[in-house]
Amino acid sequence: MYYGDIITNGREHVVLAIDDEHRSGRLPHGRTVLYERAPRRSVVPDAEFGYELLVCRWAELAWRPDGDPTPAIVGRQVGTRRRRWDTVVVEVDPDGLRRRRAFGDREIDRELLGIVREAPADWEWYRDALPEPDYPWRYVREAVHRAADRGLIDERTSADAGGRIEIRRTRSYPDWVRRIVAIENKPDLDASAAAALADQLEYDVDAGLLDETWLATEATDSRLEPALRREIPIEAGIVLTDFETGVDPESGTVAWLPSDLRTAAATGPDRETRRLVLAERVYGRGWRSFHDTMRPDCRHFRLAHTGEAMLPHCAAKGRCPTARECSSSCPSVSPEPPAWRTRGWPIEGGPGKGITRLLERRRDRARYRTLRR
Ligand code: SF4
Repeated sequence: MYYGDIITNGREHVVLAIDDEHRSGRLPHGRTVLYERAPRRSVVPDAEFGYELLVCRWAELAWRPDGDPTPAIVGRQVGTRRRRWDTVVVEVDPDGLRRRRAFGDREIDRELLGIVREAPADWEWYRDALPEPDYPWRYVREAVHRAADRGLIDERTSADAGGRIEIRRTRSYPDWVRRIVAIENKPDLDASAAAALADQLEYDVDAGLLDETWLATEATDSRLEPALRREIPIEAGIVLTDFETGVDPESGTVAWLPSDLRTAAATGPDRETRRLVLAERVYGRGWRSFHDTMRPDCRHFRLAHTGEAMLPHCAAKGRCPTARECSSSCPSVSPEPPAWRTRGWPIEGGPGKGITRLLERRRDRARYRTLRR
């Protein structure tokens, strides 16, 4: 069966299945296509990758686990050059996020952020308007063109000013990020993983980018072994997860509350910029972008329900594949035939494209839901 995203008679069906006969291209013209809703089933993956996706979905549904529901967006595997976090939760100001949306749904990267935030209200030569960079101005000029192409700023070449490039802002970049929280995912926590977490947390405190950090681990009789508990830094919160019957808001139980990681030393404009860069990555990518690195166009690739989450599932392996193994070098990879993407096939562009569109649409919906909270 194929799980995907289909629009029939102008109405969107969220997750559906198509039987193998239809996939094979023998769909007669004019015949009503029968779709059936994909069965909901419990899929608790053994790989850390699948666990990470479940934690991301749980965070999206249940944030915050130790307090009132808080508007937040969730990303996966984002970070800096030195540190990458499994799950990142950005708590947002809903009004600020609404104004951020006016800049579009794509990430605004570090170069563009500098221009968007500093662009003046009235036309000005870009070298007067922007702070002196610590790299050549020509790179700034290229970024100015890029920002203007995306409609983030206005740009013109002024004949009066001798052909200089002038810029002005289209709107103010809002203050939309409240807090940034990282979650480390260790489904099978052991002593070495707990010790590694201590090192990572030390870096997090020094870097001063995060407001708090959590550890998510599978529940063992709803408790954590006392010996392991002692290994984990007291600054990290602990949430015990139980995804046996799938993901829902009740899948996580707080076992330890985190400390505030912000220190007096961790302030300043550079910190704010780095936090915004991180938040922008979460905003633009979300956590469902695994389709970018996996092979949704493989005929074995599926999306499988586990409670309120959808995970990748490989029909050939009979489980959730890891992001690394689901690639062109997979021994079982079998690209969908070109015929599946043509001849009026019910899914425009083929099943792989349908899965990609479905995941992207879910990411966008998650942002809208945050605005309604
Ligand atoms: S066969 Fe390999 S490439 Fe295809 S879905 Fe499975 S893991 Fe991915």
